[in-house]
Amino acid sequence: MKTLKGKVALITGGDRGIGRAIALKLAENGARIAIVGRDEKEIEKTSVEISDKKTRVLGIVSDITKESSAEEVFSYVEKELGSVDILINNAGIVKDNLAVTMSDTEWMDVINTNLNAQFYYARKALRNMVKKRYGKIVFITSVTGMTGNPGQANYSAAKAGLSGLTKTLAAEYAKKGITINCVAPGYTETDMSKRINSTKKKEILKTIPMGRIGQPEEIASLVAFLVSEEAAYITGQEIAVDGGFTCI
Ligand code: NDP
Repeated sequence: MKTLKGKVALITGGDRGIGRAIALKLAENGARIAIVGRDEKEIEKTSVEISDKKTRVLGIVSDITKESSAEEVFSYVEKELGSVDILINNAGIVKDNLAVTMSDTEWMDVINTNLNAQFYYARKALRNMVKKRYGKIVFITSVTGMTGNPGQANYSAAKAGLSGLTKTLAAEYAKKGITINCVAPGYTETDMSKRINSTKKKEILKTIPMGRIGQPEEIASLVAFLVSEEAAYITGQEIAVDGGFTCI
């Protein structure tokens, strides 16, 4: 069903992994899609896949941590596709280290990408959404923001920050027809999780009640529901998609 026909969806980090799966799913549901990333080749490849879903697609090369990124990206999308109805703040990085050896750069890079840029993109989206009295924002957080994880002080602090940001923004704009939620993936099969060595992977699998890794499409299904009208009364929530990881 083309439930998102006429809507414009912007997905950061939409060229790979979870973001790509979300972009494809929202395209299937009829939305016009803009994806943002830094890798021109991946953006081109994914844009072709999205256009196969018979919708319009805009692939944008932009580093979301650059001060001008949100302004430039939103005005380009507005000119080419119309103003953004749905923002999926998905782009993220890891730079793991134990806290005592973590460099300022490792800390700041992760905070800038996974928290600061997310706020700038959400703030920019909200300005138009408030005027239109319509909007859907989904932040992709992580179970690590809920539980903590040794070696990921920067990452878990940023993701927990997004959870607080979600609740605050949801309450601020609940009366303006805007819903804001976050989805917390557990261990999901993408380039990001491929970096984990096989011994560590085996250990992680033991902590997942379902005993398997998640697929990007399983995150995308929930995101598609949250931006649909069927989820109109859900706002300010963080929902884990993790095979039961956070329930034990
Ligand atoms: P990938 O590494 O596969 O993809 C990350 C995406 O973010 C890429 O599309 C990348 O685009 C984009 N990105 C990173 N930094 C920037 C930047 N500065 N500017 C623009 N785009 C950027 O990761 P996943 O798909 O696995 O992760 C997606 C989200 O899900 C992240 O927020 C991650 O924290 C979260 N997550 C992932 C889990 C997992 O197990 N995979 C578990 C829990 C949460 P490009 O390379 O083109 O710059």
